[in-house]
Amino acid sequence: MNLHEYQGKELLKSYGVAIQEGSVAHTLEEAVAAYEAMREKTQSDVVVVKAQIHAGGRGKGGGVKLAKNLDELKEHAGNILGMMLKTPQTPGGMEGPGKLVRKILVAEDAYAPDFDACSEFYVSILMDRERKCNVIIYSTEGGMDIEKVADETPELVHKEYIDPTLGLMPFQARKVAFNLGLSGQAFKQMTKFIANLYKAFVGADASLFEINPTLKTGDDRIVAVDCKVTLDDNALFRHKNLAELRDTDEEDPTEVEAKAHHLNYVNLDGNVGCMVNGAGLAMATMDIIKLSGGDPANFLDVGGTADAARVEQAFRIILKDPKVKAILINIFGGIVRCDRVAQGVIDAYKNMGNIPVPIIVRLQGTNADIAKKMIDESGLAVHSAILLQEAADIVSKVLAE
Ligand code: GDP
Ligand code: MN
Repeated sequence: MNLHEYQGKELLKSYGVAIQEGSVAHTLEEAVAAYEAMREKTQSDVVVVKAQIHAGGRGKGGGVKLAKNLDELKEHAGNILGMMLKTPQTPGGMEGPGKLVRKILVAEDAYAPDFDACSEFYVSILMDRERKCNVIIYSTEGGMDIEKVADETPELVHKEYIDPTLGLMPFQARKVAFNLGLSGQAFKQMTKFIANLYKAFVGADASLFEINPTLKTGDDRIVAVDCKVTLDDNALFRHKNLAELRDTDEEDPTEVEAKAHHLNYVNLDGNVGCMVNGAGLAMATMDIIKLSGGDPANFLDVGGTADAARVEQAFRIILKDPKVKAILINIFGGIVRCDRVAQGVIDAYKNMGNIPVPIIVRLQGTNADIAKKMIDESGLAVHSAILLQEAADIVSKVLAE
């Protein structure tokens, strides 16, 4: 689960990480109120207006603007709220439709008073799967695309691996500050920043923190100016307050609906809808579709207790994707009985009136013979198969027709 910048910053702040302060606004009125409050606090007329969407690169698309007075604040807030913001990271990139901006962050100008005396760094924390530990990735080249820095000047990207049994050792935080070329007060501030950031990462069960830029101000404070946070969904049950921050407006609507029905669904780019029980079988099904020349439109695990209602719900979710040209149902009846799945297919057909794409059903396991008989006798135009390869071949055949 991803957090918005303003939510991520609140999380960091609660762990003592210094952030660019600000408040979120959903309307122009709220933006003006946030501006007045910020002016009161900083004694400065200057703020930044930042679009809050789940995508980076907002600056490039016109989603981050400096406002030097109330009029400019109104202008930028008015333009950004409600805009379709295109960034290199929104769906389809700069050529895509962009993402609707529903809220903005009105924040202090973190670079004040001396912009030229500031330096931007890159700091992120994530899990290194090969080394089976967390890693802090950091660079003096902040504020820009880290992939580009890694490509062109890999020597400027540093990594500090954290032993999970020891946690972050003080010398490691000092090493980060040293490699970033800091000394004196800025060095001290950076070690504190890194230590608290790591505490927040572990404390929140995060899987990604990306603070780009991490700013060194003219007076040697270290401040999180941007903040991308991804939390581990599997740990959200022990972070009720963080789980509440989920913004379903930012997520794929079909995936949100699937989740509400406890279906494990991921939307993909292909044209063959898949309905499978068990994650492993779902992966194998996607593989065999690919190997037979097709392309899966989704990953969908209906789970071990799939009954008629659940199968019907899965049908409805798969069919929301207009790219779907055929549906392959591949169920192994170990816990769920094949006849129940067959009943689900038949009921769904009847309830939905008309399913506009061919359906290929492969039911194996408990009561597979009864299930096949039920489907054959239902009079529905459903192709059935026993072997997975057979089913995949039928899929390619119906796609070619
Ligand atoms: P992103 O484009 O989505 O990564 O959004 P960021 O929060 O990183 O902001 C983009 C850029 O806007 C930063 O790299 C800065 O150059 C600039 N920026 C952000 N906050 C401030 C600020 O408080 N003052 C000034 N002068 N520039 C800012
Ligand atoms: Mn950024």
